[in-house]
Amino acid sequence: MRQIIVTSCLFCDIAAGKRKADVVFESDDVLAFRDISPQAPHHVLVIPRKHIATLNDLQEDDAEIMGKLLLAAKQVAGAAGFAEKGYRTVINCNRDAGQTVFHIHLHVLGGRYLGWPPG
Ligand code: 5GP
Ligand code: ZN
Repeated sequence: MRQIIVTSCLFCDIAAGKRKADVVFESDDVLAFRDISPQAPHHVLVIPRKHIATLNDLQEDDAEIMGKLLLAAKQVAGAAGFAEKGYRTVINCNRDAGQTVFHIHLHVLGGRYLGWPPG
């Protein structure tokens, strides 16, 4: 019997344009869009178009794409006007860090003072 495995990923759907998002930056490899539940006045998620589930799943040849995520974060912060005041980038990995969407994403948070250490 032939088995059909259906997989779905929220952020792959956003990258493919199948799910709406408020996109603030895009390139061939990377997409940045506003978080649906913002934790700061500016809360953007930067994702690779390629599906990578978690930080633990990164391979050597993903080094370039991860660099592009950081460059996109810099661009987002500059365009939003909080680059000089400051902002935070975060990648949550797995349960203890509270990862809920298993397509790697860089949170870019800014527009308010961000306490440290985080919760
Ligand atoms: P995590 O907890 O995995 O680090 O972050 C996942 C983030 O994705 C959360 O901040 C959550 O608000 C956001 N999120 C979940 N579903 C959607 C969605 O459909 N659209 C957008 N724009 N953000 C989402
Ligand atoms: Zn995905």
